[in-house]
Amino acid sequence: MTLTNPRGTQDILPADMMYWHHIEATSRTIFNMYHYEEIRTPIFELSELFERGLGNETDIVSKEMYTFMDKGNRSLTLRPEGTASIVRAAIQHPQLTKHNQAKLYYCGPMFRYERPQAGRYRQFHQIGIENIGNAHPFTDAEVISLGLHLFDELGLPGLSVSINSVGCPVCRPVIQERLKQFIVNNLQHLCGDCNRRFDQNPLRILDCKNDKCRTYFTGLPDIHKSLCHDCKDHFNSVVEYLDSLGVPFEIDPKLVRGLDYYTKTTFEIVSDKLGAQNAICGGGRYDNLIKKMGGKSTPAVGFAFGVERAVMVLKEFSEIINRQDPLIFVAPIGFNQQTRCFRLMNELRRAGLKCEMDYSKEDLKSQLKTADKMEARFCLIFGEEEAEKNEIILKDLLERKQDSYPIENIVDILADKILKR
Ligand code: AMP
Repeated sequence: MTLTNPRGTQDILPADMMYWHHIEATSRTIFNMYHYEEIRTPIFELSELFERGLGNETDIVSKEMYTFMDKGNRSLTLRPEGTASIVRAAIQHPQLTKHNQAKLYYCGPMFRYERPQAGRYRQFHQIGIENIGNAHPFTDAEVISLGLHLFDELGLPGLSVSINSVGCPVCRPVIQERLKQFIVNNLQHLCGDCNRRFDQNPLRILDCKNDKCRTYFTGLPDIHKSLCHDCKDHFNSVVEYLDSLGVPFEIDPKLVRGLDYYTKTTFEIVSDKLGAQNAICGGGRYDNLIKKMGGKSTPAVGFAFGVERAVMVLKEFSEIINRQDPLIFVAPIGFNQQTRCFRLMNELRRAGLKCEMDYSKEDLKSQLKTADKMEARFCLIFGEEEAEKNEIILKDLLERKQDSYPIENIVDILADKILKR
């Protein structure tokens, strides 16, 4: 039986790579403008990091982690998200926060044992930012607007932003209590998860994706009325700053997100071009996580977006031009011309030009066929006659014309044509 990749994972093939490169390169450019620096943390961490950081009641920790014992009997987990590791790194390396703030971004694979479907995988990739050390609501507004700036730059159509505030340890108990009062009479109609959450973390009931449960959430009391002064002021300021930046958004009091560490602002960016899994980006503020993980009390806010989902939208709805470098196919005719062409390829590559040769062929017709299959833009033809005259034929396969040039000039001629366009 032939082996295939594990369920919920994907091979990313060369034909899709331009989308990935476009997303990665654009993210780096935009993050750099906002003064974020890249950090790379291990793909696996001690399981305790996620258990403590994300909360044992979250779906991620209770159901979805890839956890295993290593040969040294340590419980390790493939990272299901990026924030916990970055918080750990920020505490572990005080030089990261020596100016009392760290603005970090990351990019890489995450692992969750979820039920795979279109847009939901067990290994997926996130690109995210963490702004550590800033409590000012400008930061929340800047992080959200950065996300939209990036997605505009990527060319993702059909996006909308939802924001909410989930309060802080002062007002969260009041919000939870109001919610329980609202839900208690319909508890028997809600799913098992909702019933479990009712006792453990009622706010997360609002995150239930079950359509039947969601029908019981209409008429929900305005949780913003239960926010404490500080959270209310913060939320109003974020709203005001987003308005001042011209960021379109909508307030969604049901937006609580799946992770327990959020305080105050939560937000999500969804795309109307995706199906059921329509969230591209999610994030929020987590002012208590760093202290909870053993660091100094430090406010922070961040987001992560799913690269696979961004690729899905780009593939279908945007026209990124294939900016691949043109390929030069080098075609020696006959065995005696091969070594000179082999050397010429080396010269072309040293000059920064992309080229290819088929070592197994000596006749022109079949080499032209290969050049065609490889979608080469140019073909360099070097036969006995050309060797005698120290020339080479440059055939433009797109414009269908050709000329002979002195072989010692051909690298410069092609560099002029291709690199100086
Ligand atoms: P989260 O870390 O759950 O807040 O998710 C942030 C973003 O990561 C989501 O908006 C998705 O774009 C993406 N994402 C989360 N889980 C998955 C998954 N299982 N497969 C693909 N993308 C995912």
